Amino acid sequence: MNLILLGPPGAGKGTQAQRLQAKYGMVQLSTGDMLRAVVKSGTPLGQKADSIMKAGQLVPDEVMIEMISNRIDEPDAKGGFILDGFPRTVVQAEALDRMLEEKGLKLHHVIEMVVDDTALTERITGRFTCAKCGTGYHDSFKRPAVENTCDVCGSHEFMRRADDNAETVGKRLEAYHKQTAPILPYYAGRGVLKQVDGMAEIDEVTRQIETIIQS
Ligand code: ADP
Ligand code: ADP
Ligand code: ZN
Repeated sequence: MNLILLGPPGAGKGTQAQRLQAKYGMVQLSTGDMLRAVVKSGTPLGQKADSIMKAGQLVPDEVMIEMISNRIDEPDAKGGFILDGFPRTVVQAEALDRMLEEKGLKLHHVIEMVVDDTALTERITGRFTCAKCGTGYHDSFKRPAVENTCDVCGSHEFMRRADDNAETVGKRLEAYHKQTAPILPYYAGRGVLKQVDGMAEIDEVTRQIETIIQS
């Protein structure tokens, strides 16, 4: 099954995608994670992406479309994938439709995680991840079971993203409302858009998504 998780920064896309990947074997394709790997590589593209991401803006469509098209072709995506962070513009959504058709793949559900903007700054500024396996945590809402120890891999090293500060969050939310939200009517018109309550507790959000994918 191929899914899109849509929602503003901090909505819980990554959290839910990690859970679906662990339980159902669909692979999480996070364009944010892919871009952070490119930034780490220090190539000219990485340097360009780094400054765009720090400014809370969007990386150009053509870069993202090529990146996701190549990633979908990798063997682990054959068993199904969850797009987390893509598409983010109508141009990307249209390109995705074309590429899926060319590849003979179907898009089963587009799941919008509905959240209040007011909750997002707290979600994002409290976010951290395991430096070794990437599992996501939160200072208030999802602490590791044992202090300073990753629940999944036992690592004691964690990291915070450079763009997860209050100032950049404002820019990212603005970009979401201006550039990404117009995707919602695009998918609603094609009858694939479903909604879940992203303000509910993490387990409850998972249950709502499972109801959709089992329908
Ligand atoms: P979040 O999970 O907080 O929404 P992401 O990790 O998905 O953030 O993305 C981090 C940054 O990477 C974005 O602010 C943007 O600059 C860039 N980015 C990620 N995906 C895309 C995309 N599909 N199109 C353009 N830029 C993107
Ligand atoms: P996104 O990928 O959409 O940017 P994340 O999954 O990284 O969002 O979630 C942002 C932060 O909020 C993380 O620290 C995560 O642990 C936390 N979080 C995710 N879902 C919820 C929820 N339903 N309630 C409270 N906190 C949540
Ligand atoms: Zn870990």
